[in-house]
Amino acid sequence: MPDYPVDDRPTGMTLKVLSVASEAVPLVKTGGLADVAGALPTAVAPHGISMTTMLPGYPAVRQKLKRARTVHAWDDLLGEPARLLATRIGDHPLLVLDAPAFFDRPGGPYADPHGTDWDDNWRRFAAFGRAAADVAGGAVTGKGAQFDLIHAHDWQAGLTLAYNRFAPWAEISLPSVMTIHNMAFQGYFDARIFRSLGLPRSAWAIDGVETYGGVGFLKAGLQAADVVTTVSPSYAIEIRRPEFGMGLEGLIAARGDNVIGILNGIDSHEWNPGHDPALARPFSARKLSARRANKRALEAEFGLERGDGPLFIVVSRLTWQKGMDVLPEVADHLVGLGGRLALLGSGDPAIERELHKAAARHPGRIGIRIGYDEALSHRMQGGGDAILVPSRFEPCGLTQLYGLAYGCVPVVARTGGLADTVIDANTAALAQGVATGIQFTGVSYDTLAGAISRAVALYRVPALWQQIQKSAMASDFSWAVSGKAYADLYRRLTGTEQ
Ligand code: ADP
Repeated sequence: MPDYPVDDRPTGMTLKVLSVASEAVPLVKTGGLADVAGALPTAVAPHGISMTTMLPGYPAVRQKLKRARTVHAWDDLLGEPARLLATRIGDHPLLVLDAPAFFDRPGGPYADPHGTDWDDNWRRFAAFGRAAADVAGGAVTGKGAQFDLIHAHDWQAGLTLAYNRFAPWAEISLPSVMTIHNMAFQGYFDARIFRSLGLPRSAWAIDGVETYGGVGFLKAGLQAADVVTTVSPSYAIEIRRPEFGMGLEGLIAARGDNVIGILNGIDSHEWNPGHDPALARPFSARKLSARRANKRALEAEFGLERGDGPLFIVVSRLTWQKGMDVLPEVADHLVGLGGRLALLGSGDPAIERELHKAAARHPGRIGIRIGYDEALSHRMQGGGDAILVPSRFEPCGLTQLYGLAYGCVPVVARTGGLADTVIDANTAALAQGVATGIQFTGVSYDTLAGAISRAVALYRVPALWQQIQKSAMASDFSWAVSGKAYADLYRRLTGTEQ
């Protein structure tokens, strides 16, 4: 337990948590991390947690800020001047690190407009981590700790916890939680950067930031955090194995019970088919027939012919992780069974090319949109019959949860959060009326094609398909349960259990 004066705190008090993340909706999003960081403050608020989110000041974030005031300035934050801006986002406090040399540039949060990672990502996110640790520990105001606990997300925030633990200027070390949203991104850099980080020599150690001879930002956070969480119980177990731990499996195993899985929830205001302004027609489990108008609209939008087979959708990064390399070939099988496919995504150019070729082979049966389009993703969940999620690993996955909520039946690989959230339509589950989707084991042409065949067969028995849709829509993956789980964790680590 860190050195922190918690004993005289009354139980039931409001805890102040600093959530440090490189993206959060509605300001900036490249993936599920943003959904989670954006939803957490509201999810934990009913449990007496006041959460402040801290983000880097990318142009996308700066442009959306209203009434921000400067609450601190650094002359030299890893070599550059920076300011801390304070404002609110919705009902919650927001801090933005305005450091133009690091964050005011075109492109995405991590890469230039051509998709190449910025060379100085280590410095950008070290500065972010250093600033966050300063803020949390009170170095900014000089009035002592402003927060009771730090919650850092992914490698971009990992160094926050190393600064919190090792920095000689910090008088106290706050309790901390590190969440892994994806173990594949570790923020691993050359050892030479260590000198520029401003950490004491003692941090260059196996239980510090050193990782296989270099500096590991995620590893540093995992080592320094009191508790490590990841975003599903299955993934918390999988990352003890080399295929999923990606070099950090030993550390994860060594941390034992201090690694736990808390499933992501979904924002049920944003994702509610009964009140979704993106849909041609709202619907509910009781009025499933209203879905038809959305399906027709989606077919028209993707230039697809009508047909009596299911309309499959994909909303995904187009990467190996997501199994998207297998899809172009399987698409032929899907069409052969009478199915159609509408795909929205972007990523690996080679996969994009193969998908375009598949669409050219099957005009009117396969439609592809390369890009990122939030509203279209809603229309697809509302109009598609089934969503394909053939991930090789999936820490939690959100698109299958949106599919469940919208009666767009998930067809998923049995891994991580996909295994934890979808109930396979096997004979027993169908007999019990509890099936919510289709699972398959291992990602290959054969397994995905087999799962698609099962989906088409089930779709052709309308009573069974509707039963699956209704059970899917009855699944509850709102934030209520997970918000409490995070709040309980924060209280345990600060000794303020209620
Ligand atoms: P990951 O974070 O690994 O990409 P998740 O399933 O956890 O995968 O989260 C992905 C999020 O990004 C979901 O909210 C999904 O709807 C959204 N998304 C992914 N690709 C696109 C796209 N091309 N257009 C719109 N939304 C997308």
